[in-house]
Formats: sequence, C-alpha cells, structure tokens
Amino acid sequence: MTKSKVALTTYKNFIDGQWVESRSAGRVSNINPANTEEILGEVILSTRDEARQAVESAEKALEGWRNTPAPVRGNLVMKAAQLMSARKNELARALTLEEGKTLSESMGELARGINCVEFAAAEGRRLNGETIPSELPSNFCYTLRQPIGVVACITPWNFPVCIPAWKIAPALVCGNTIVFKPATLTPWTATLVTEIFAEAGLPPGVLNLVLGSGGEVGEELVNNNKVRAISFTGSNDIGSRLYNQGAARGIKCQCEMGGKNPIVILEDADLPLAVESTVTGAFGSTGQRCTATSRAIVVEKIADTFVERLVERTKKVMVGNGVESGITMGPSVDKSQMETVLKYLDIGRGEGAKLRIGGKRCEGEKYSKGYFVEPTIFDHVKPDMRIAQEEIFGPVLSVIRVKDFEEALAVANGVKYGLSSALYSNDASRIFKFIERIESGITHVNSGTPGGEAQLPFGGIKATGVGAREMGSTAVEFWSELKTVYIDFTGVKREGNLY
Ligand code: NAP
Repeated sequence: MTKSKVALTTYKNFIDGQWVESRSAGRVSNINPANTEEILGEVILSTRDEARQAVESAEKALEGWRNTPAPVRGNLVMKAAQLMSARKNELARALTLEEGKTLSESMGELARGINCVEFAAAEGRRLNGETIPSELPSNFCYTLRQPIGVVACITPWNFPVCIPAWKIAPALVCGNTIVFKPATLTPWTATLVTEIFAEAGLPPGVLNLVLGSGGEVGEELVNNNKVRAISFTGSNDIGSRLYNQGAARGIKCQCEMGGKNPIVILEDADLPLAVESTVTGAFGSTGQRCTATSRAIVVEKIADTFVERLVERTKKVMVGNGVESGITMGPSVDKSQMETVLKYLDIGRGEGAKLRIGGKRCEGEKYSKGYFVEPTIFDHVKPDMRIAQEEIFGPVLSVIRVKDFEEALAVANGVKYGLSSALYSNDASRIFKFIERIESGITHVNSGTPGGEAQLPFGGIKATGVGAREMGSTAVEFWSELKTVYIDFTGVKREGNLY
C-alpha cells in the first residue's frame, strides 16, 4: 500500500498548489463511526477568507488551464485515474474507516470512481461541437464547447471518493478551475482524492481543496461572484436553497439531492431475485445511498410470502465494523445520522406500521463503540405515512401492500422525490408501461434501485434533481458553455436582413 504524503493527524487545505494548514480556531475530530474511540484525524474548519483565497487561486490558474488543449487536459485526468487505481486499497481503507461502509463496498465505490475519471478523461478527445447548416449561402455555422471559468464542487459524505471524482474529472477536462468543498465528515478521503489529482500533474491553482463547514466555506463559494458554476450533491434542504442563491446570481447550478426509491414487485416476479435485490438495496451501504431502496411496493397476492422471505434474508445481514471480513452492513456515519434513523423508527411505530425485524440500536459489547442500527423492516406501511414519504438515510425498509399494478405505480410516484426505481416482473406489457410512467431519473427492470455506470447519465427528477445530468457524456453539458459561431464568407454586401 502506498503511504499518503499528507499528515493524517491534521487535514490541510490545498490552495495554489500548496498544502496549507487553516489558521482558523474551529476544529472537529474525524471519528471512525464503527469505533468512536478511534480518532482518525482533525479537521480545521476554514474561514470564509480562506475560501476566498482558494477562489482567487483558481481564478489565477484559469487562463493557463483553459488554453491547455482539451486532449492534454484529458491526459492529466487519465493519469489521475491510473494513480487512483494504484492507490485503491489505501483509498478504500480510508473510506471504510471514516464513512463506515464495508471494505467490499468501498472497493466497489473505488471501481466506479476510477471508471468515471477514465471516462471523463477520454472526453478530452471528444469535446466536439457541431457543424450546422445555415439558411444563407456561403455561411459556415458551428458550435464549440468552452470552459465556464472558476467552479465549485460541493459534495456529501456518503460517496466521498466517487462523487468528487465524477464532478472534478469532467470539470477539469472542460477547462474549468475548481474549488472543492467536501463534507466535513469525510476530510481524509477528500484529501487523498485531491492529492491524486495534484500528483497527476495539474498546474497550481487548477484544483483547490478547502475543508470547512457548509455554513462558512460552502456559503462563501455559493455567493462569491467569481464562482460561475456550482455542482452540489446533498440534502434537499441545502440543495434547494443553494439553487435559489445560484439562480439569483445567474450562474449554472446542478443539484442532486435526496431519494425515496421504490422497488415494485408484481405477482409474476422472480421472487428469490426480488428478495435479494430488495435486501441489498435497502441495507447495502447501511441504507446511506441516494439510490437506496426505501419502499418495497408489493401486490397483495404475493405479499405474505415476499415479506416472510425478506425477513429471513435480512436475518443474514451481518452488522459490524466494515474492516472485518464477513460484515455486510456498517454503522450510520455519525451520531446525528444514527439519531435521525432511531427517530424514524419511533415515528414508524407511532404511525401504526407493523415492525417485522430490527427496530432499534444494535445491542451487545461488539456494538457498544459504534453507531450501529439494526436492519429494519416495517410491513403494512400506508403510502402517506412519514416513513413512506421522507428520506431516512438509514437501514429502514417500508413494505407497502397494493392490489395491482396500477395502484403500485400510483404509490411509487406518490412522493416528492424521483431518483431511482425498480420493477420486478416478467410481463413485457407492464414492464414497458412502468418504464414509460415511473417518475424517476433512473429505472431498473429486474435489478435493484442502486447502481450507476460511468458512461450512463446519473440523476433525478422532481425534488431530487435540478440541472444537467452528471456522469456519461451528459457531464460535459453542465461543465462547458456552448458558443454558436456564424462565419459569412460571401465577401459582398448581402441584400435584405435575416430576421
Ligand atoms: P448535506 O448536509 O446537504 O451536505 C452536502 C454538502 O453541502 C456538504 O459538503 C455540506 O457541508 C455542504 N453544505 C451544508 N450547508 C451548506 C450551505 N449552507 N451552503 C453550501 N454548502 C453547504 O448532505 P449530506 O448529509 O452530506 O448527504 C446526504 C444527502 O445527500 C442525502 O439526502 C442523499 O440522498 C443526498 N445524495 C444525493 C445523491 C444524488 O446523486 N442524488 C448522491 C449522494 C447523496 P458540511 O458537511 O460541512 O455540512
């Protein structure tokens, strides 16, 4: 394993190509959520002034970076993908220690992150415009893609390698310079990701990292007039406010937010497969995935059998410290997230849902130092209950029983969110109706709600997402400005006006 060159005890900012310690007095510990006695490092909460310095550094680097040919920018990003791949074990371990997901989940995140960086790197050779015919003779018209300028990437803690990677890589390839503000809970992985891009050979100032709170560093980036685009992933509360702030300044904003993803199981479904996908979708990554399965919508005819099998399979989920082998579900990321989950368990009981398994904090010596909650299933949940409507972001599944396909579809669509969805059925007619009518940005047929591939667009509709899709070739649509060019080569005065 390659050893990090950055001291892990106090995480630093990366501004103008230098690792610098914040001068702020505010500090928080980076705590392992599986073992709260293990302090991984200390984050200094940077000031607004330090965020401004990072923006100025990005502004200074912009001219040189935007004039670097796109394929050359892509080559540097490809180098970052190779370094990430070489250091994936180190990154995966840091990810498990500070976020809590299991090592195999961390390796999965790493694989996806590397794919995203590789895919974006190759876009440097495909940053094409179009040639478009003109109505006029002897006129040549085309479009070209240009950098936006200084941009900000504001990211959550739940995919602290992959999400920064899928934002930073295409932003760089498109010729922008960046200020990266990661979640305060995951400074170590943010440091490693930044270190890797820097080692790939980015000129000073092209990528800057500022650690600090959303209320200070985040707010500064959102309101700083030199920042011309913001890509945000996180909660609805913060994202929708941020989108308004960005719109008021007339800048590009992309906000990917929460989800309440349904899996619909019809009577002709392959039940063993549907059960497996529901359990891994609900409890994988401790339910802390934006694409986690949080509602299983099942037709009444098969509901008893489905729930019985679901409960049996859930008993096999092994909760514990994600670095240990055999563990399939880690802790909540911190105390506050665990308390939110526990609060929703009380809400579910209070609303009259039938608790089938789980329902409390894990008990026993081996769980005493971590934020572990039991994988929980509520049955007979009504579609309007809070546990069926609100994002919990923990290992809690609501089973909603419906009479038929039409009701299933109505229930699936009856939430404010629209990120991912899944259908288990073998009936071609209902499969295509589902694809057409389900209100989500991503949908799966006969596979679970989580997942995403580097070359496929990722994002949600309704309250989940605003702005262009991330990942895939759509990423460059957000990270570049399109210019339309008219070249008239008639060389003589033209009669009349065109519009
Ligand atoms: P969050 O609390 O909204 O935080 C996200 C980021 O925004 C963090 O870096 C946070 O900084 C920052 N922030 C907080 N207040 C801010 C402000 N006033 N101005 C600017 N930035 C601010 O979300 P989270 O708890 O980290 O992440 C969980 C949420 O992310 C869930 O809702 C999940 O569904 C969503 N998510 C969505 C997707 C998707 O693609 N749709 C993917 C992953 C996660 P601090 O850490 O310092 O607070």
